[in-house]
Amino acid sequence: MTRLLACLFTGAVIVLLTSSVSAQDFRVTLLGTGDPIPRTDRYGPATLVEVAGQNLLFDVGRGAATRLVQMNVALRDLDAVFLTHFHHDHLIGLDDVWMTGWLPPPFGRRSVPMEIWGPTGTANLLKNLEEAFELNTSIRIPDELLPPAGIKLIAHEFDADGVVYEKDGVVVTAFEVNHGDLIKPAYGYRIDYDGRAVVISGDTRFDRNLIAAAKGADLIIHEVALASDELLASSEQFRRIVAHHTTPEEAGIVFAEVRPKLAVYTHLVMLSGPTIPQAPLDSLITRTRTNYDGPLVIGEDLMSFIVGDSVSISRAAR
Ligand SMILES: [Zn+2]
Ligand SMILES: [Zn+2]
Repeated sequence: MTRLLACLFTGAVIVLLTSSVSAQDFRVTLLGTGDPIPRTDRYGPATLVEVAGQNLLFDVGRGAATRLVQMNVALRDLDAVFLTHFHHDHLIGLDDVWMTGWLPPPFGRRSVPMEIWGPTGTANLLKNLEEAFELNTSIRIPDELLPPAGIKLIAHEFDADGVVYEKDGVVVTAFEVNHGDLIKPAYGYRIDYDGRAVVISGDTRFDRNLIAAAKGADLIIHEVALASDELLASSEQFRRIVAHHTTPEEAGIVFAEVRPKLAVYTHLVMLSGPTIPQAPLDSLITRTRTNYDGPLVIGEDLMSFIVGDSVSISRAAR
């Protein structure tokens, strides 16, 4: 890990570790590390957790279907999808994963309903998605002889902290986070299996509920937002955006209290203005270091983490 961090500080390529995945391990892959801005290098927020033979997807941002196929995960093979909140950039890939996963090619062929967990509002979203795309459904069933069950959506809603999913020893716990007074509901998730734990922050300001929920986690996948003081002084709009998220200094406090084996930034909100450029990416690291001196990585699309006795990093898409 020391060698890895040294590489990050010098801006060199991350060491490619080729750890094998044992039955107790998690593999966590960042499918999308961006925000609402359309760009080709950072797709919308989506994180794949593979554990105990299950594929769990957390948020379904722009391009999630493409990234899953890049990872050689057939869209039908998602066991569960979890939504953190209802900002569109976290959902906009859901229709694609859902409907493309029903098509006949090898990446599709879903023949059973797709199950989606999320806070109150999820059932309404899914009902309306089914309605919005009803003509696609009603055309393809008789025309392509696709199985009607494979295009059904099943919602599992919750409205409080607690275990929301449990299967073969894998436990997913939702915990409320604070994404701003008007942005409710908003949740993060903790995934536990065989004594190991991964936490996904969702979108949040600095929030002690997240720190409490993340205690003992091996890996934290955390959002972050960064704007220069000059940019913040220039616009109320930028101040409002940053107030919905966690600064690197605040994330440093979270990481210092939780002490994960590895902390990873995703959902990079790197703000800039017409005359004020975006801060360099490694300023995320230097500003986090004011409060945290442990293992830390800036996530990239298709970066994977193997959570075993230690946490290793791989950038090889399968
Ligand atoms: Zn959000
Ligand atoms: Zn977001």
